[in-house]
Amino acid sequence: MFIKDNLHKIKNDIPKNVQLIAVSKTKPISDILEAYNAGHRAFGENKIQEMVKKYEELPKDIEWHMIGHLQRNKVKYMAHFVHLIHGVDSFKTLKEINKQALKHNRIIDCLLQLKIAKEDTKFGLSITDVNNIITSEEFASLNNINIKGLMGMASFTEDKSIIRTEFKMLNLIFTKLKKHHSSNFNLSILSMGMSGDYKIAIEAGSNMIRVGSLIFGKRNYT
Ligand SMILES: *Cc1c(COP(=O)(O)O)cnc(C)c1O
Repeated sequence: MFIKDNLHKIKNDIPKNVQLIAVSKTKPISDILEAYNAGHRAFGENKIQEMVKKYEELPKDIEWHMIGHLQRNKVKYMAHFVHLIHGVDSFKTLKEINKQALKHNRIIDCLLQLKIAKEDTKFGLSITDVNNIITSEEFASLNNINIKGLMGMASFTEDKSIIRTEFKMLNLIFTKLKKHHSSNFNLSILSMGMSGDYKIAIEAGSNMIRVGSLIFGKRNYT
């Protein structure tokens, strides 16, 4: 029962314009079904193969969000069903997503991941990278992807002021890039905030949060 209660608690706590993605990575089908039976439909996974397996076993009205770092050679396994890819952090990956989406005759919605944390371990594009991508001729020819927003992860720190500064910076970039429009680039989604920092993220302008452990409990990686 606790998954349902946790979900309701978070949903009651966040503004209506903020979408909650339940991050179910490492968690069993039974946990996802518990959230599903409580009415939840948007789930996030960070490994393509794990997401494919769960997609195959679970009801087909689930929206699957790929939130992890992408291995290009695996994009093809999720191209027929993925709802939103959060972690696009290179032009090469974007071109691969476009190619696979074309094969399935669909348009795949994507978010560009920006590097906002100081740590070297976090993936992501710089503002310059984004500008180079979206102004290129080749980008204009990618008809099977649609960039709908940005995603970012704050530093792993107890210092809330650092987290707040990083989220605010991403919101500034988001506000700027929102002015740019093309057939495959129209920003409306700002995906930032996890179990430990989603409140700060929402204060800083997030409208999509990715929450795992606060819903499903701690993950066990062994
Ligand atoms: C695991 C993960 C989350 C959720 O983390 P929690 O701290 O359990 O809420 C969110 N975003 C990304 C990219 C993740 O990999």
